[in-house]
Amino acid sequence: MSFNLPQLEYSYDALEPHIDARTMEIHHSKHHQGYTNKLNAAIEGTENESKNILDILSELDMSNMALRNNAGGYYNHKLFWEVMNPASENIMSDELKSAIVDSFSSFENFKDIFSKAAATRFGSGWAWLCVKNGKLDVCSTPNQDNPLMPDGCGGTPILGLDVWEHAYYLNYQNRRPDYINAFFEVINWGVVSKKYSQVN
Ligand code: MN
Repeated sequence: MSFNLPQLEYSYDALEPHIDARTMEIHHSKHHQGYTNKLNAAIEGTENESKNILDILSELDMSNMALRNNAGGYYNHKLFWEVMNPASENIMSDELKSAIVDSFSSFENFKDIFSKAAATRFGSGWAWLCVKNGKLDVCSTPNQDNPLMPDGCGGTPILGLDVWEHAYYLNYQNRRPDYINAFFEVINWGVVSKKYSQVN
């Protein structure tokens, strides 16, 4: 089987002013398309050709850098587009609200921990909110790694933030903390809540 670039559920300019249309267009049509194409090239003619993306990630040979980088890039961006939406449509379930309070004391404390994980990830990588051992957990991974990989930080991601410079540099330049704050304005808590209820 081969993978296709997932379509966005919203237009490239839908997240403005928080994430600009030009960044979204390049990020989706160039970067994500690139990971998708290279993932297909990496699995062609191998046993991975018959696996779904979750099995590819969980059974990954971490020394296979082409597969590691591009399977990660494909999955991570697919999740990233899903967990964003214009702010007016964001509703968090009571179930997820309680879980955030249980795991982090308060939403504000969760936001601080998540933002710190994203801000302090050196170089390129991702920050994650995961369901791990029945609790919520925040972690970060380098490059296109993710928690589902054998050497990942563990758990099932329900929210991910791309902190590669290609995700924010056109609009925010070196101001990664401003981009992280902006991300919180466009998180699709309805989708994150749904993912939480499916994992938990
Ligand atoms: Mn990216």
